[in-house]
Amino acid sequence: MALTAPALLVGPDRHGRSVAVAGGLVVGEAPPDAARLPCPEGEISAGAVCAHTHLYSGLARHGMPPATPAPESFVEILERVWWKLDRALDAQSLRASALDYVARALLAGTTALVDHHESPNLIEGSIEILAGACEQLGVRALLCYGATERNFGADEARRGLDECRRVPASPLLRGLVGLHASFTVSDQTIQAAGQLARELGTVLHVHVAEDQADVADALARGYPGPLERLERLGALPRGTILAHGVHLSAEQVRRAGELGCWLVHNPRSNEGNRVGYARKLGESGRVALGCDGWDADMTVEQQALDRLAAAHGDTRTGERLARGNALIAERFGTRPEPLQPGALGDLVVRQHGAIQHVVVGGRVVVAKGALVTGDFDAITAQARAQAERLWLRMASL
Ligand SMILES: [Zn+2]
Repeated sequence: MALTAPALLVGPDRHGRSVAVAGGLVVGEAPPDAARLPCPEGEISAGAVCAHTHLYSGLARHGMPPATPAPESFVEILERVWWKLDRALDAQSLRASALDYVARALLAGTTALVDHHESPNLIEGSIEILAGACEQLGVRALLCYGATERNFGADEARRGLDECRRVPASPLLRGLVGLHASFTVSDQTIQAAGQLARELGTVLHVHVAEDQADVADALARGYPGPLERLERLGALPRGTILAHGVHLSAEQVRRAGELGCWLVHNPRSNEGNRVGYARKLGESGRVALGCDGWDADMTVEQQALDRLAAAHGDTRTGERLARGNALIAERFGTRPEPLQPGALGDLVVRQHGAIQHVVVGGRVVVAKGALVTGDFDAITAQARAQAERLWLRMASL
């Protein structure tokens, strides 16, 4: 287990601002023995949070061949791309994927990731691999296995939920209970997920109404929608993280907010999968920004949100990136306002707009624009090698 980093004093920056971190948290005054990271030309700001992603898709950037025939619907995209990739994953490819994804996230100034994992042929042990990659490189993360019944039935779901118990105790990590989406699980699995979350004192992380197909499934099962199905089956503890919500009504988005749930907007993914623009999310103040497996450069994601919001005349998208910090603070039980005493010791220093230093929990993970917790070139080379193996296995499925 990673020990808490020693005390660190960052700054002063060009505005004269300094931030001290001790015991993993921001403190009012640096201890006398604190290490120093001066940044007279730089500018200190909060680390970015990606509130929904998939570390298992990290190899896709390394030449994933296009699916043939080309998928024409959201469900076909899942069936021909992501549900093949996740079945093809083994321990080596998952480790390579996670390290590559986390390294790039840190270099982009993203200090926390909310992950949703699936690898149906490697359920037991998968969380340990992801946790190891996060701890090694030093990113903060919420981890879960997204239980589903879509490959092997009820037993697959039970094993997926069990894997959610295996997030190791660590200052950087917290566990969630994952469900893939309500349309791939039975009522019994949803109930079991809610019970497990209460037992573990945590919340759920689940895809909700990403596509109309999820809504149609809930209606066919006799529920008003996927949100109501989760609520009636006792699977929406306060703080639960609902990814997407593209096809929720205004009333449903407000209800999610009343229940204390977070919604996560993933603009690039929604555009790429052609599932629609999540206009109704503006009905809740508890909406964060995610990238859903795309590279976790939240500046780029924010630019996509700004572009799409303007195109759709949506004026209610402000603060989504910053809300991610509050989401993370909620799970760690820390002060929600970043950089204030009592907040998580996660911050970045930019110089002329570029990421210069990145600090997570007081540990310097990126210095002068370079990863210091791992060999980035070796991580990339390993990712490319594992990607070639992965494409071959995908082609045989
Ligand atoms: Zn997702």
